[in-house]
Amino acid sequence: MIKTTKPGEDASLQASKPGPAPSAPRSIDIPHSLSVRQLAELLGVSVTDVIKHLMRSGIMANINQAIDYAAASAVATNLGYEAHLKTRVGEKLAGTVSEIKRQQLKGEEAGLQPRPPVVTIMGHVDHGKTRLLDAIRQTNVMATEAGSITQHIGAYQVEVNGHKVTFLDTPGHEAFTAMRARGAQATDIVVLVVAADDGVMPQTLEAIDHARAAGVPIVVAINKIDKPEANPDRVKQQLGDHGLVIEEWGGDVPCVPVSAKEKKGISDLLDNVLAVAEVENLRANPNQPAVGVVIEAGLDKTKGPLATVLVHNGTLRLGNMAVVGTTWGKIKAMFNDQGKQVRKAEPATPVVILGLNGVPQAGHILTVVASEQQARAAAQKELEQQGPSRLPKSVSLDNLFDQITAGKVKALNVILKTDVQGSIEPIKNALQQLGTGEIQVNIIRSASGNVTESDVMLAIASKGLVIGFGTGVEPGARRLAEAEGIDIRIYNIIYELVDDVDKALKGMLKPAFVEVIEGRGETRAVFPAMKKAKAAGAIITEGKVSRGVSARVWRQEQLVVESVVISLRRFKEDLKEVTAGYEAGIVLKDFNDHQIGDVLEFFRKERGG
Ligand code: GDP
Repeated sequence: MIKTTKPGEDASLQASKPGPAPSAPRSIDIPHSLSVRQLAELLGVSVTDVIKHLMRSGIMANINQAIDYAAASAVATNLGYEAHLKTRVGEKLAGTVSEIKRQQLKGEEAGLQPRPPVVTIMGHVDHGKTRLLDAIRQTNVMATEAGSITQHIGAYQVEVNGHKVTFLDTPGHEAFTAMRARGAQATDIVVLVVAADDGVMPQTLEAIDHARAAGVPIVVAINKIDKPEANPDRVKQQLGDHGLVIEEWGGDVPCVPVSAKEKKGISDLLDNVLAVAEVENLRANPNQPAVGVVIEAGLDKTKGPLATVLVHNGTLRLGNMAVVGTTWGKIKAMFNDQGKQVRKAEPATPVVILGLNGVPQAGHILTVVASEQQARAAAQKELEQQGPSRLPKSVSLDNLFDQITAGKVKALNVILKTDVQGSIEPIKNALQQLGTGEIQVNIIRSASGNVTESDVMLAIASKGLVIGFGTGVEPGARRLAEAEGIDIRIYNIIYELVDDVDKALKGMLKPAFVEVIEGRGETRAVFPAMKKAKAAGAIITEGKVSRGVSARVWRQEQLVVESVVISLRRFKEDLKEVTAGYEAGIVLKDFNDHQIGDVLEFFRKERGG
């Protein structure tokens, strides 16, 4: 299991802190993505220090691994720096010394200030997450806004004793981990809701695993204490059994009894959230151009593209030129969570923005740039770089050894799902013992039940793999895993499971499937075929093509599509196979965009032997 340490617990980390006192933080520009080594050089600390800090956020990275801005800036902030996103456009300007000086000056002058914590509520279904969110909203509407009706914008802010707290409005760990999987960790604190009458349930444990994998501290809210059958002590005991020891029992997890229904204990809960936030020392610099994360987005029929942005650092202002992924635009209007027009949004404040030229994706980062020209350039560059190749490669048992030898992984993060509870411990123990000096096996989540989408999402966010023992895989999970390149391995015999992981660690595992190229061809003509499909009239240049074989279409060395041969004909005659030197009319499934000159590649996947 990933060990998550709270600030202050790890003396070695504290000792290595080179940054100046918080009152005079050094400003640093960090790009969208950089390697651990580059970050260490930038911060002037050892690679080991950076890796340790990343581990505290649940990120297992090695020296050459690329990490995103969110992860890198968290390390920089921990080390006493004031991090700013160096936009791609900014990189282009790197030659302009005056521009860099100007930015650095700005950073040094301004300084960091405390910012509100961003909280996500998690817990088992029906334990009262939604009702608790509502109760908090109703009992703590900002004093100045009393009486106003809160709008659903994906997040809202409340005020407690003069301190603001931001709540993300989508409860549950799915949205939380989906954001992380896209590289954006918006949440600082998790409130774990457990119903006092029901106790710890499967999704409670799932939520704990997801929060821990992200390295986010937890505050427990024992809900429904108004019910006669409520048994808070049982909940505390159950949490302790799962390694979450509450403060009252000597641990470090605050635990507050509440009733969302009767609105009891809410202020106590918020006080505890603020206390944790203080320990976390959450800071940002409001005097910088804004960087934020999109938490919701959509198209309004009259207003056009709308996006709720949670400002991460800096202040977002009306009239700012912003870029989010491939979309950009000047901010024409901003609304807060009460539907009121606002002119600016400071760190950890959610606002709906109007003015982007398209609907951005949730989880994408918004940055403010200086001009429309820069915005266009940044969006264009993003467009060019889009595609699956940009995704960091996840580990699989097949590529594990290569990644270890290339220094790309130092820990194998495993999500383990089993048929019955009783299988978990023996498998977990056996797997953990396989760790070598070079690589650790971390079971970041273990539970009984089918492999779900949420498991796959956690694997994406943690760059891990999923191992199932005697379980099924839900169709949505399979689809997501295929799309994101996550390895799901299902076993029915413990020995085989452990043996495969052992072999993978030692580089002795034969790949589960190997690709065998059966032939190649070249498109010489395109003509209509059955129904509305188009056939490629191709000459087979190598090997053979057969009906049902997998096929790729390459155009000027770019992969156009991967599909399957569904029809193979010559002179209206259906054929099973056509060999080199002959021509054939080939129809591919769901693909009609053939062009003369395309190269066709035919292949099969075979079990490795
Ligand atoms: P969620 O699935 O976790 O979002 O749960 P909901 O907020 O939808 O609540 C599930 C059910 O529990 C609803 O019928 C709520 O009215 C009820 N509920 C929530 N909080 C409390 C509480 O504090 N006391 C009681 N008695 N019922 C509650």
